Amino acid sequence: MAKILILNTGGTIGMTKTEDGYRPDGAWFRDTVGRMDSLKAAGMPAWDFMETVPLLDSSRMSVKEWNKIAGIIAERYDDYAGFVILHGTDTMAYTASALSFMLCGLSKPVILTGSQIPLCEIRSDGRDNLITSMIIAGEGKIREVCIYFGGILLRGNRATKYSADGMQAFVSPNYPPLATAGISIQYHESAFLQRRAEKFVCRRMSDVPIGVLKVFPGIPFRAFEPLLTETLRGLVLETFGSGNIPDDGGVLLPMLEKAKKHGTVVTVCSQCPQATVNVTAYEAGNALAKGGAVSGRDMTTEAAVTKLYYLFSVYDDAEIVKFNMERDVRGELTPRDDL
Ligand code: ASP
Repeated sequence: MAKILILNTGGTIGMTKTEDGYRPDGAWFRDTVGRMDSLKAAGMPAWDFMETVPLLDSSRMSVKEWNKIAGIIAERYDDYAGFVILHGTDTMAYTASALSFMLCGLSKPVILTGSQIPLCEIRSDGRDNLITSMIIAGEGKIREVCIYFGGILLRGNRATKYSADGMQAFVSPNYPPLATAGISIQYHESAFLQRRAEKFVCRRMSDVPIGVLKVFPGIPFRAFEPLLTETLRGLVLETFGSGNIPDDGGVLLPMLEKAKKHGTVVTVCSQCPQATVNVTAYEAGNALAKGGAVSGRDMTTEAAVTKLYYLFSVYDDAEIVKFNMERDVRGELTPRDDL
């Protein structure tokens, strides 16, 4: 097996206990990983180790860190067969989605993993997550950004954190796993991303203003109107079911029209993890269609948010962004014809 790069960015896996709670401990983790015999056993790929500075609890990840991680992968792309990114679970699905968009024409595995229990603890799930991710990265069958966690390999931009307690922290409600790791690692090749003949290129992301609004019964839309300024480029609306929303006595439509005038791309996602948005299915979604909102189809909120960041980094024109929001760019949504 060829060589892989392990990149530690922080998260529970490499944390140790302090008086203020668990905190990333780079020196301890580097030393521990270096002394783990299992990582040098037969069947394991050769590896190099790197870390980003500072190591972060993933709640502190932002566009700046996504650019840093993508940049490290791009600079070393030709040197390694695959990449394992160690990351906190809280925002792992956001980082995986962001990387999936930024790393265009990817033809190597980029596997994000971490753990629910730090590696310093006896019951840590970090050991298996790290070892299996390394094997998957070394085998090179996968050519996309994935999350490996608790025995399953998921497409990164289809995954969402489901459990803060369980060892299977992630699910991918609208897309099947790419592999399952039981006694052996079973790859489900029919679910792999179809390769497009593109040269690998890393596109940096800009920190454009994006918002997320979760709808609830009785939502007073007017209270949120001040958010709809010209500077807001994208808004993900988490609606009910298949894209239903209260119209707040007719307040919603003029607000959507105002957003449209400002060039804000309103994208409709569902609060149901397992769903495909169809804003024309019910009368209650009609204002969204009339107001020019785009359907996020079966995208996760994580994918929709990072896709907006990505598209606005590449295109200036809101109409082009809208068009691409409904298109399958990296396997993050099921196109209309495939349903
Ligand atoms: N708070 C941690 C983080 O996201 C949780 C974890 O890694 O599981 O960095």
